[in-house]
Amino acid sequence: MRVIAIANQKGGTGKTTTAVNLSAGLALRGQRVLLIDADPQAHTTRHLGVEHPVVSLEDVMDGRVPLPEATYETDVPELYLIASSVSLSHYEARLVTEVGRETLLRNALASLGADAPVDFVLIDCPPSLDILTVNALAAADEVFIVSQSEFLSLDGVRQLCETIELVRKRLNPELEVGGVLLTMHSQRTLLSREVESFLEKAFPDKLFRTKIRRNVRLAEAPSHGVPIQLYAPNSPGAWDYNDLAEEVLERCRLSASASSLPTR
Ligand code: ADP
Ligand code: MG
Repeated sequence: MRVIAIANQKGGTGKTTTAVNLSAGLALRGQRVLLIDADPQAHTTRHLGVEHPVVSLEDVMDGRVPLPEATYETDVPELYLIASSVSLSHYEARLVTEVGRETLLRNALASLGADAPVDFVLIDCPPSLDILTVNALAAADEVFIVSQSEFLSLDGVRQLCETIELVRKRLNPELEVGGVLLTMHSQRTLLSREVESFLEKAFPDKLFRTKIRRNVRLAEAPSHGVPIQLYAPNSPGAWDYNDLAEEVLERCRLSASASSLPTR
């Protein structure tokens, strides 16, 4: 089970779009995926067609509902959701006084056990560095940074890296930046190319070869309550997110074979 947090504390960089459509891309390739909506705005939840959920992430973090009982099925086989709702923001505010508040999500995931029937857990983070994002980073094996191809977005990347460093020192030494994804990308603009070359230098080997192009179908899909692969399978948006899913699987295979190499 690989736990991946999708983060950038700037809003509108494509986190939710990536969390939903990458999860669907992985599930359609035979992976069993659990997608956790950790944003009180609940965009991921609605994107997957769940309105007014009766159980949500706060019930799981609080230990009121065991994680397997809190999952929703989606229209994609093998893609499951832990929902969010606006009450998650009240819960987040209440957590301020809670002992052990940073690791509630990690504990809930650990309760699944080592041989949980899940290949990937993706966590869609809120657009802030609040306690929900810290919970996601503390629970994750790796974080995927999602950045729009513009310089304003890079400020968010810098602050996020500082938070990742702190979480690594204090809560989760194993946490690594597993990937950096450019969204709403246009190869034709100088700005997009400059942002790309900046990120290539800042995160050698981490920038995904796949870039997500701007595609209006991706913006339309949420209101239909399904991922892009079901809404518009023959659109550049679906092709890009399927390519990304392939690239993520390829990286997993490479790191698995590297770690099984004999060491001396
Ligand atoms: P975040 O979760 O980081 O706040 P979203 O994924 O919600 O960002 O994206 C912000 C807005 O941009 C949404 O309306 C979404 O539909 C739209 N969007 C995201 N990615 C693309 C894309 N590649 N092409 C066109 N619109 C996009
Ligand atoms: Mg979002």
